[in-house]
Amino acid sequence: MNGAEISVVAGVPKGLLIGGEWVEAAGGAQLAVENPANSEVLAMVADAGPAEALEALAAASRAQAGWAKTPPRTRAEILRAAFEEIMRRQEELSLLMTLEMGKPLAESRGEVAYAAEFFRWFSEEAVRINGDFYISPDGNTRVLTTRAPVGPSLLITPWNFPLAMGTRKIGPALAAGCTVVLKPAKQTPLCSLALAGILIGAGVPKGVVNVITTSNPAAVTEALVGDDRLRKLSFTGSTEVGRELMAKSSQHLLRLSMELGGNAPLIVFEDADLDKAVDGAMLAKMRNMGEACTAANRIMVHRSIAGEFSLRLGERMERLKVAEGTDPTAEVGPLIDQAAVSKVTALVADALGHGAEVVVGGSRIGDRGYFFAPTVIRGVPRHSRMFSEEIFGPIAPVYEFDSDAEAIEMANSTSYGLVAYIFTESFSRAHRTIEALDTGMIGVNQGFVSNAAAPFGGVKHSGFGREGGFEGIHEYLTVKYAALNLG
Ligand code: NAD
Repeated sequence: MNGAEISVVAGVPKGLLIGGEWVEAAGGAQLAVENPANSEVLAMVADAGPAEALEALAAASRAQAGWAKTPPRTRAEILRAAFEEIMRRQEELSLLMTLEMGKPLAESRGEVAYAAEFFRWFSEEAVRINGDFYISPDGNTRVLTTRAPVGPSLLITPWNFPLAMGTRKIGPALAAGCTVVLKPAKQTPLCSLALAGILIGAGVPKGVVNVITTSNPAAVTEALVGDDRLRKLSFTGSTEVGRELMAKSSQHLLRLSMELGGNAPLIVFEDADLDKAVDGAMLAKMRNMGEACTAANRIMVHRSIAGEFSLRLGERMERLKVAEGTDPTAEVGPLIDQAAVSKVTALVADALGHGAEVVVGGSRIGDRGYFFAPTVIRGVPRHSRMFSEEIFGPIAPVYEFDSDAEAIEMANSTSYGLVAYIFTESFSRAHRTIEALDTGMIGVNQGFVSNAAAPFGGVKHSGFGREGGFEGIHEYLTVKYAALNLG
C-alpha cells in the first residue's frame, strides 16, 4: 500500500459501535478484511458474536423513544450534515471502497455520490411525514391517521455496494425516527465503519446508529431477530439468505424489506438505436464488474441484428482496461473473492458444454487477485445455468429472439423480477413491453435505473419493499389510526 492508502485505512475505526462508543469484540476477536486486487490483508476489524449484537440492540432500543421525539427538522439536519461530510470526503471514501471491494476509482466516486444522495433525499423527506383526516361514510366518526416510526431496525447489507446499500437504509430509517443496528458484509466493513464515524460527527445521538461487524452473520442475526425489541429487518443480499431470514422473522412478526437477487433481461428490439443499445448494455452489464443485482444477466437481441450487436459489444468489451481499481486507467477491477471467480468459471464451462461459443474473453486473468476477462458469449441455450442463475461477473451472454412475444416470454421466464432494460425507438412498443414485464423496474433506452429519487425494488424472488423515492421512508413507518367520536 502507498502512503495515501495506508492513511485512509488507518483513519477508519475498527471496533463495534454500540451506544455511541467504539468497543472491542469479546476476547478481542477480529476478522481480516482483504483487498481483492492482491489478496493482501488490508485491516483487522472487530468480530462480534451474538452477545455484542444484543448489546447493540439494547442501545438502539434505549435510544428509540428519544429519537422518535426528536423534531423532524433536527433529524433532517443531521442527515444533511452527513451528506455534506460524505461529499467533502469523497476522494478518501472512494479510495477506501476501491481497496476493500475492488471496483475502479471512477466507479467508487460514483457510488460515494450516489450513497450521499440518499442522506440528502431523506433529509428532505424527514419533514414531510404526513397523515390524514376524513369523515367516515356514516358521518359518525372522524378518521385521524398519523405515521409512527416502526422502531429499532436491523439493516443487513451486501459487499457489492459497500456505502450505498447502507445509506439507502440508514437514510430513511433515521428520517422516519427509527434507531438502527447496521450489519455490513464481512468482506467490506470499512466503508460502513467510516460512515458510522461520519454520522456521529454529524450529531447522531448515542445509540441511534449501532454497527456490528462479524464473520458469523447467521448467529448474530438469529440472536437479533429472536429478540422482541427488534421491530424491523431490512435485508439486501441473496434470495437464498433472504428466504431464510424471512422464516426466522416470523417468530416476532417483524416488518420486512427484502432487496434480493436479480436476473435482468436486456431486450434489444430490431428498431433499436444500436449505439444506444450497445452503450446501455455495456453499462448495465459492466458496472461494478457485473457484480450488481441490476446487472444485465440475459442480453436478448432480435435475430436480424444479433450478429452486428454481438460484434460491436465484443469490440467494446475487449477494449476495456482490466486492472487494480486503484490504477486511474482501470475500467474493470477484480471480482470480490475466489468463490466469485470459481462461480463465473463454472457458468462459462457449463454454457460451453451446452454448445455456446465465446466471442471474447472467457477466462480468469493471472493468478494474483481475482480478475476475470470481460466476456461475450453467444449461442447459450436456455437450459444452461447462466440463463436462470445470477452471473455476478463480467459475462455477457447474447440470446436471440424472433418476435416481441418471444422476447417477453423469455424475459419473464425466471423466478426473479428486479429490473429489465429495453431498447426500442417505438413509443408504443416501449409502453406495451413495460406493461408486459414482470419486474419492479424498467430502464428504457438506458442501462441504469438507480436514483435516490426513484423507488428501487423488485417482485417475485427479487423481494419486496422499495428503497429511495417517496416510497422509501414508508418502509420505516407504520400507520396509526384514531377513531374520533365527536358526539
Ligand atoms: P449474501 O446473501 O451472501 O449476503 C448479504 C448479507 O447477508 C451480508 O451482510 C452477509 O453477511 C449476510 N448473511 C449471509 N448469510 C447470512 C445468514 N445465514 N444469516 C444472516 N445474514 C447472512 O449476499 P452477497 O453475496 O453479500 O451479495 C450479493 C447478493 O446481493 C446478490 O444476490 C445480489 O443480487 C444481492 N443484491 C441485491 C440488491 C437489491 O437491491 N435487490 C442490491 C445489491 C445486492
